[in-house]
Amino acid sequence: MRFDLWRGFLDLLFPPKCAFCHKILPKDCRKDGICPECMEGLKKTEITSVGKCEFTDGVYSCQAYSGNVRKSIHRFKFGGRQEYSRIYADMMAKRIIGSLGRLDIGFVTYVPTNKSHIRKRGYDHGMLIARYIAEKLDIAEMECFRKCRETKPMYGLTPSQRRANILGAISLTCKKEHIMGKNVLITDDIFTTGASVSECARLLKSAGAGRVYVLTVAKTEK
Ligand SMILES: [Zn+2]
Repeated sequence: MRFDLWRGFLDLLFPPKCAFCHKILPKDCRKDGICPECMEGLKKTEITSVGKCEFTDGVYSCQAYSGNVRKSIHRFKFGGRQEYSRIYADMMAKRIIGSLGRLDIGFVTYVPTNKSHIRKRGYDHGMLIARYIAEKLDIAEMECFRKCRETKPMYGLTPSQRRANILGAISLTCKKEHIMGKNVLITDDIFTTGASVSECARLLKSAGAGRVYVLTVAKTEK
C-alpha cells in the first residue's frame, strides 16, 4: 500500500512516457510501457524474416533500427532508461516464442559491453535484456563472455573495420562443460553487420556449442 502511494506520487511528478514516441502514457498502458499507437505501429513494422550471420544458425530481430525505435534505443543506452530492457525483452520474447520448440535453446547469453561503458551508464544494458528474456522464456541465463580489451564504437566503421575491431577482444569466461552440446541464444540491442555476435558464436562453437541463434531488438536497414 505504501509502495502504491509512493508510485502514484512519483507518477504525478514524473508521468511515465512511452518507450518509443516518448509521449505521456495513458494510465492503462503504464504496465506495458508502450502507448496504443506505438503498439499498433510496432506490429506493422515487425521484421518477420530471419537473417544470416557467420557462425550462427539464424538471426531474429524485432524492428527496423529507424525512427522512434532508434531514438528509444538511444535513450536506453545513453539516457539512463534501463527500464526499457523489460519492454524490449517482452517484444523479443514474443518474436521468438513460436519457434522455441524447434530451436531447443539450452541457455541465453549476451554480447559483452566495454567495462568503461557499463561504469558510465551504471548498468549493463546487454545483460539486463538477456536476463529478462531468459525470465520471460523460462530458460537459464549464463554470462559467457568478457571484453579483454576495449573496442571502438562500431558506428561509422566499415564491415572489415568492425571485424578487426572485435577480433581478439572477447574471451569466453564459462566452462566448456556448461556449453557442450547446448543450443544457445545470444541477445543484443542492434544487429548491424553482426561482427560482435559472430565472434561470440565462433567462441561458443569452438567450445562445443550446438546451434547458435541471435535475437536483437532492432536491425539496421541495408
Ligand atoms: Zn508511443
